[in-house]
Formats: sequence, C-alpha cells, structure tokens
Amino acid sequence: MKRLVSGVKPTGRVHLGNYFGAMKQFVQMLESDAYEYECFVFVADYHALNFIQDAKEMRRLTYDLVKDYIAIGLDPKKVTLFKQSDISEHTELCWIFDTITTMPYLMRAHAYKDAEAKNKEIVVGTFNYPMLMAGDILLYDADVVPAGQDQKQHIEYARDTAEKFNRIFGDTFKLPEPVINPAVATVPGTDGRKMSKSYGNTIPLFASKEEIVKGVMGIVTDSTGDRPENVYAIHKLFKTEEQLVPIYEAHKGKYKALKEALIEDIEAVIGPMRNKRDGISDEQVHEVLKEGALHAKAIASAKMREVRKKIGVTL
Ligand code: AMP
Repeated sequence: MKRLVSGVKPTGRVHLGNYFGAMKQFVQMLESDAYEYECFVFVADYHALNFIQDAKEMRRLTYDLVKDYIAIGLDPKKVTLFKQSDISEHTELCWIFDTITTMPYLMRAHAYKDAEAKNKEIVVGTFNYPMLMAGDILLYDADVVPAGQDQKQHIEYARDTAEKFNRIFGDTFKLPEPVINPAVATVPGTDGRKMSKSYGNTIPLFASKEEIVKGVMGIVTDSTGDRPENVYAIHKLFKTEEQLVPIYEAHKGKYKALKEALIEDIEAVIGPMRNKRDGISDEQVHEVLKEGALHAKAIASAKMREVRKKIGVTL
C-alpha cells in the first residue's frame, strides 16, 4: 500500500487556497480506487511556532484545524490524524538532517530568499523549515506528498536530503513524489495574487454566508471586459468551464450578477461542510489526536531506531 503524508500549519483560518491546493486532494486520494493509500495527515504545529507564539492561540488553532480536517471528509478511522509535536521523532530527525546539510544549500530556498529580499530578519526555525519538513515526510517513508506549488521546492529538499543521507549512511529513506494538481497549483485570492493569509486576500473555507458575501463582493474587478477575471478564476474552482460558459454568457459584463452566482456556488459546497464542522467537539478532537499519535508514534519510532543504528549512536 502506498503512503501519503501531508500537513497544514495551524496559523489561521484555512482558506480556499489550502483546500483546493492541498486538502481536497487528501480526501480524493483517500477515496481513490486506483490505489489504496495509507494516509498520514498532521497538524504542523512546530512549523506554526515560527509564527504563532501565544499558547492560547496555538491551542485554539490546533482544535480548529483538526475539526477542519474531519469536516472536509478525512475520516479518522481511515486516516491517521496527528499533531507533529506529539511525535518527537520529527524534531530529532530534523537535527540529524541539519548535520548533513549546508547553509548555502538552505539559503537557496525561496522562502529564505524572499525574506532576504525584503530585508526581513528571519528566525532560525524558518531558515531551517525545509529540514523539519524533510523529517516530517521521510520518517513515514512517504510515497506521495500532495501540496500546492509553493511547497514543491520543499519536497525537492526532502528528496535531496534522503539521497544524501542514503549516500552517507546506506539505503534508509524512500524518495517521496510531490503531487501537485496543475489546475489548482496556485489558487488566486480576491485580488488575483496567490491566495494567502499574508496578503489579506483569502476567503475562509468555513466562512459564514455573510463572510462569503463580503469576500466575493470584495473581489477586485477591472471596469472593462465582459468577464471579471478574478471572479472567474475563483468560480473555476467550483464549476467546470463548460458549466460556466452559459452563466458568463447570460451575465456578460454584469459583474454583480456574476458575483451573486459565485456566492451561491461557494455556499452550496461550503454549507454542508460547515454544518458538519459545527457538530465536532473539542473532546472528539482530543480522542482523534490521541489515537492518531499512537499509530504515528509506532511507525516513527521504528524508523528512528533504524536511523540511530545507521548513524552509529546505538551501541
Ligand atoms: P500552509 O498554510 O503553508 O501550511 O499550507 C498548507 C497547504 O496549502 C500547502 O500544501 C500549500 O501548498 C497549500 N496552499 C496554500 N495556499 C495555496 C494557494 N493559494 N494555492 C494552492 N495551494 C495553496
């Protein structure tokens, strides 16, 4: 059975970019008939610590993200849902990778270069992010890692790191493949740029009807042309191009009517998931994470026993 591993950082409300770019693929691959995937989906809380440094906020965002995972259709009986910080092997492996990785190599990462270009001071955790992510993935011998385009380079870092470790210490890690759906590799936000919390252009996945209205009405449109491109780009996530042709033909140049059609289509998809999410309790999240940690820990600790032997720290 092939293994799927992926995670999302609990840094704020999950948005349509996260959902269509990555999370929806977890559900589709879980239900795929072509392959049976054993799925490991985690809350990347130690990655989030680079941004969220408030205990109450971290706890709330963690509960929220697990509820999001369950509400989109990740059945905890079929998927191992866990919290990264519950499995200390992730950070242990990250350290081992640090010792075989050079600074110039990490300095080539897009996230680091972007921060540099903006003259931002970058914390060591963000600089080192690709090595923790390599640990997250390689610890479980992942075959596939579904993600958005922005994670492609990090998955390549994980592959390079696996190769390097294998070369130095002998065959240990499997090389993971990224799974990036080109149609949704970079989901645009309400201003046409990549949907991202840092740009303030998101529509939350579990938005209320009012929030959907506010988000869609705020989509930036230019005043010329028959088709508001930023509206269309988001609409394409919810309907096929064939389904959209008659709608955009009937409402040519009528931006308000097109936005109203989009609001309805978003609500039709989000509404049922939102209802499901409302019924999930914090206690349920606790139980799910407890079970998930047990399963993830068993696999991760066996892998680390092998790694420790390979590097010679087991006597
Ligand atoms: P993060 O919030 O960085 O943990 O992202 C979680 C997942 O969502 C990652 O696989 C990202 O690549 C994906 N993602 C985030 N924003 C977008 C976007 N605008 N379009 C496509 N995928 C995205």
